[in-house]
Amino acid sequence: MSCALVVLSGGQDSTTCLYWAKKHFDKVRALTFCYGQRHIREVEIAKELAEEADVPWESMDISFISQLSPSCSLTNLELNIEEEKREGDPYPTTFVPGRNLFFLSIAAIYARNHGIYDIVTGVGQADYSGYPDCHDSFVKSLNATLNLAMDEQFRLHTPLMWLDKMQIWALADELGVIDIIRNNTLTCYNGIMGDGCGHCPACKLRREGYQKYVNSKD
Ligand code: ZN
Repeated sequence: MSCALVVLSGGQDSTTCLYWAKKHFDKVRALTFCYGQRHIREVEIAKELAEEADVPWESMDISFISQLSPSCSLTNLELNIEEEKREGDPYPTTFVPGRNLFFLSIAAIYARNHGIYDIVTGVGQADYSGYPDCHDSFVKSLNATLNLAMDEQFRLHTPLMWLDKMQIWALADELGVIDIIRNNTLTCYNGIMGDGCGHCPACKLRREGYQKYVNSKD
């Protein structure tokens, strides 16, 4: 029986991955990290999404990673989320250094303990914010490292790696879950579910992709 673990944040991408995994594996589990994110409601939403998908779910507290980078706006509530990069800084303030390194490393250890070696993550580099740990080369490198670290054969799956937001909506539609993704996920940096606040960078990207997809069907 094939089993996969999905790293589930409760957003559009990871929730699409949850249903992708349900299609490709016999059994699926979901793991959500509390990393000191701005909207702790994300964790509750991930739990509800896992329940809706009928998938066993657990959350894990790794909030120390926000203490490591106090200048990150996704985890420091005193900072505004800026779209622009700060001078001399190659990444936007929403970059949480090491986030996917921790997420995927901890997910692999957790998965191994459940006899699972297939791990699914929603990272992608098509219309990404430039985060280095969303790149294909990083994921491949970490996969090799995890195999060496635990003397196992993990397979890190990144079904969204080369898809833009429009193609991710198309995938959700193909999986028959476009309404669940549209209404029940949280991508907005301001913590508003579904279509969100409409003006933060995450909402803009999500909405533009949705519009493009809807127009492409006409
Ligand atoms: Zn928003």
